[in-house]
Amino acid sequence: MPFELPELPYSYDALEPKIDAKTMEIHYTKHHQGYVNNLNEALQGYNELQEKTLDELLQNLDSLPEAISTAVRNNGGGHYNHSLFWETMTPREGTDIPEKLQTALEVKFESMDKLKDLFKLTALGRFGSGWTWLTLSNGELTVYSTPNQDNPIMQGDIPLLGLDVWEHAYYLNYQNKRGDYIDAWWSLVDWEKVEEKYSAALNS
Ligand code: MN
Repeated sequence: MPFELPELPYSYDALEPKIDAKTMEIHYTKHHQGYVNNLNEALQGYNELQEKTLDELLQNLDSLPEAISTAVRNNGGGHYNHSLFWETMTPREGTDIPEKLQTALEVKFESMDKLKDLFKLTALGRFGSGWTWLTLSNGELTVYSTPNQDNPIMQGDIPLLGLDVWEHAYYLNYQNKRGDYIDAWWSLVDWEKVEEKYSAALNS
């Protein structure tokens, strides 16, 4: 099996009360594990594709055999997106934004509040299931959303931060109040991780 569920960097209840333990457990052990299993299943019999990294697969969806292209898009995307989602959250609430990243965000979006307003508007505007992203796109910090489990690397961009707005990510705790979930999530963002990704993206 080429792909494995990554270890969760904190316990299921570590993000309480913003994200409840039951949601975390189901999200990680059922949803994320399901994407990993289905991705591995899709790649069965394609030995040369099993040698590829997840990035390579998602950056070259058009070159995949038609029979598995949709399965790799949905499940490979799901695996990639959730791995990034866990990694960019932390129980250490209120982590400071490293200065270099904060300055770059303020230059682009005027202020952190304006960035958060735009991000929220974008996340609320995603009809149905999908993700909202902060990316580096052609060297520019950018906010947009994608449907289903699509993600920025499928279109040549670099994701720095992503928010899952599928109902499975928040429904137990927030029901239909997606906006409250978005507001709560900001305090869980690991800005040091985002800064690491930003620096790496600038140098890539
Ligand atoms: Mn999810």
